[in-house]
Amino acid sequence: MKKALVLGAGGFIGSHLVKKLKKQGFWVRGVDLKYPEFNETHADDFIIGDLRIQTICDKALDQYFDEVYQLAADMGGAGYIFTGENDANVMHNSALININIVERAVKHKVGKLFYSSSACIYPEFNQLDPDNPNCEESSAYPAQPDSEYGWEKLFSERLYFSFMRNYDLNVRVARFHNIFGPEGTWQGGKEKAPAAMCRKVAQAPEGGEIEVWGDGQQTRSFLYIDECLEAVQRLMDSDFVGPVNIGSDEMISINNLAKMAIDISGKNLTIKNIDGPLGVRGRNSDNNLIYEKLNWKPDAPLRKGMEKTFKWINEQVKNRMS
Ligand code: NAD
Repeated sequence: MKKALVLGAGGFIGSHLVKKLKKQGFWVRGVDLKYPEFNETHADDFIIGDLRIQTICDKALDQYFDEVYQLAADMGGAGYIFTGENDANVMHNSALININIVERAVKHKVGKLFYSSSACIYPEFNQLDPDNPNCEESSAYPAQPDSEYGWEKLFSERLYFSFMRNYDLNVRVARFHNIFGPEGTWQGGKEKAPAAMCRKVAQAPEGGEIEVWGDGQQTRSFLYIDECLEAVQRLMDSDFVGPVNIGSDEMISINNLAKMAIDISGKNLTIKNIDGPLGVRGRNSDNNLIYEKLNWKPDAPLRKGMEKTFKWINEQVKNRMS
């Protein structure tokens, strides 16, 4: 039986990935500071532990694994990574996890290691025009990410690739662009835009208003979790190492995302644009490379994923109120 290790298995993407790997017949070990928040873990073995600590990493990666997925990171949405207040923790905590893990992955000669980088590595100067951002993989350098979160991801991409060159570590690196879906963080400050919009709409009284950060003209694209995992699998099953974008190229303004959530709810609500942490002006996944190398593109429109996510968040909100 093949063995997989999922680091960050208590998080949004990690908990969905564990489910998928189990369905495919893997024996799975998960590691995280916490169990998944919204469901029982499906992992065969789950270690609660802090991957900044050497002895925890020794326990987590103590043997050969066919596949290792390194998803653990100190991260959140715009309200977490763009305020500046969490910069030191984001850089220190995530870098430490990656430095600890890469060494043990080499020691146990793991089959393949997947590292989740981010669209936040792309230079700010290519993302000033909301209608025409450039996030082609080759545009990463000269580097100028707009957040320390992005700088750490870029450093760690390079860390894994340097171990690939010098120690034959078999790595795959993807740059995720805003992954969303049910069972993701939807409140508390670490939630991302789709979840935040769904929550605000679900909580708003009929005829009320919802607040949207900035002028709402900033653009992004969002990829539904199931599609993300399909792309990750294709990358892991191929000889292509990346770095490659995993995202959607259906770009939408944040006000239109809010309107979509309102429309799905069937409520009559207005949007109030207020000051808030923003990030770059425009961002969209460039999917040419992944299509060329892995023949992958998202199947479903954003609206489909938003409908499923709204339904789930609406239930969470109702449960909290009852
Ligand atoms: P998440 O925050 O839900 O999951 C990350 C998990 O890492 C959390 O459960 C957290 O507890 C765990 N973790 C953090 N510090 C740890 C530590 N010291 N020891 C052990 N576990 C620790 O985030 P996610 O959305 O599931 O993202 C997974 C990965 O994908 C992250 O590396 C993230 O940076 C990357 N990514 C995600 C997105 C997205 O849109 N969700 C976009 C780009 C990149």
